[in-house]
Amino acid sequence: MDRSQIVNLAAGPSGLPLPVLLEASQGLLNFEGTGIGITEISHRSPEFAKLTKDLAAILRQHLNIPETHEVLFTQGGGCGQFSAVVLNLLARHRLRFPDLKDEDRVMDYVVTGSWSEKAALEARRLGGGVVNIVTDGRSGSANGKNFDSIPPVDTWRLSERPAFIYYCENETVDGVEFDGHSSTEQGATQFPFHLIPPDPSDPTFLAPLVADYSSSFLSRPIPQLERHALIYAGAQKNIGPSGLTIIIVRKDLLVDTVAAAKLGAAPVPTTFDYAVLAKAGSLYHTPPMFSMYVSLLVLRHFATLGGVPYLAKVNAQKAKKVYAAVKEGEAAGVFRPRVKDGSQSFMNVVFEVLGEGAEARFLASAQSAGLRGVKGHRSVGGIRTSLYNAVTLEQVDLLVEFLRGFIKAEAG
Ligand code: PLP
Repeated sequence: MDRSQIVNLAAGPSGLPLPVLLEASQGLLNFEGTGIGITEISHRSPEFAKLTKDLAAILRQHLNIPETHEVLFTQGGGCGQFSAVVLNLLARHRLRFPDLKDEDRVMDYVVTGSWSEKAALEARRLGGGVVNIVTDGRSGSANGKNFDSIPPVDTWRLSERPAFIYYCENETVDGVEFDGHSSTEQGATQFPFHLIPPDPSDPTFLAPLVADYSSSFLSRPIPQLERHALIYAGAQKNIGPSGLTIIIVRKDLLVDTVAAAKLGAAPVPTTFDYAVLAKAGSLYHTPPMFSMYVSLLVLRHFATLGGVPYLAKVNAQKAKKVYAAVKEGEAAGVFRPRVKDGSQSFMNVVFEVLGEGAEARFLASAQSAGLRGVKGHRSVGGIRTSLYNAVTLEQVDLLVEFLRGFIKAEAG
């Protein structure tokens, strides 16, 4: 089958813009006129050093990243950051409060889906502090088991003096997002930045706020970016091939973790140490060069289209169309959206197909229609259509046409 006949709606790794792939195929043969391909050249070459700088610079431009924050490139993905966040931030906390007992080092986790839950489990596994679950997105669901919304902010239980506060902006598996799609007057649930307590060790800051942006990075502006101590994202959903992890980290988080370990903190593996990565300009070890290269091409491509404001506008239009079709299916008794209005992800639309054998019929017809990657995550089932940056409005129109056709066929 030709790629022009396919609509790739996979949750990640996901599609990339065609002009970028064509350009990247040239770079595989000859990177920047060196006569050597991007996967063959030294990461210490001047050409690659320039690429690293250009990538950080274009990210700064796209997201208005202030000089208070470093931009780092590394490997290990989102899951690597589940561990790195805990180790680095508890090391910082140890340096500031050497005499506290571990049970007084509290890590606040806002659990709104499977990924933030995994991150909280990793924090608990690593120890060195205790995990406080600020809120659990399952609490308001009918059976108490599904992550289907961001719980009302007045029910959250933030600690007074947390070592850090952690949340996941977009839950890829469950389709729950802060400031999500809303079709009613009820509006969307925003992240409550106003509730963050001051940093106990430095009143010029708020308690360190950490966000996993793996599946919504660059899909729209990051609200209150400057209030975050750390934001990270894997490249593989919205901006490039897998392998690259992007970290935006406030400079006061770059601490001497070796000194912290001498005071009793857990040692931080060197390749996970933010200060080491920053000091080496993300070249402490060989970075994911091909992924960085393609990500730079993608970011340049998006800049020619109008940058993040353009992406935000188109992504909102895409989600609106798909949720409207899901709603039509709901009215016809064919679909059921998994997530409540106001928390519905712009990136991952998750719903169920109702009726005996209907999901299998949906998947088979989607396959024939050229739609790929629409099966829900294995842990939750159902259907998930992911509408990342590379999915065009035209492709979304094809999806919507397919959904309407399916509703008609099922509803009779
Ligand atoms: N966080 C979120 C929101 C994700 O969607 C994913 C992966 O899909 C991860 C973390 C884990 O990322 P990785 O597979 O890069 O380790």
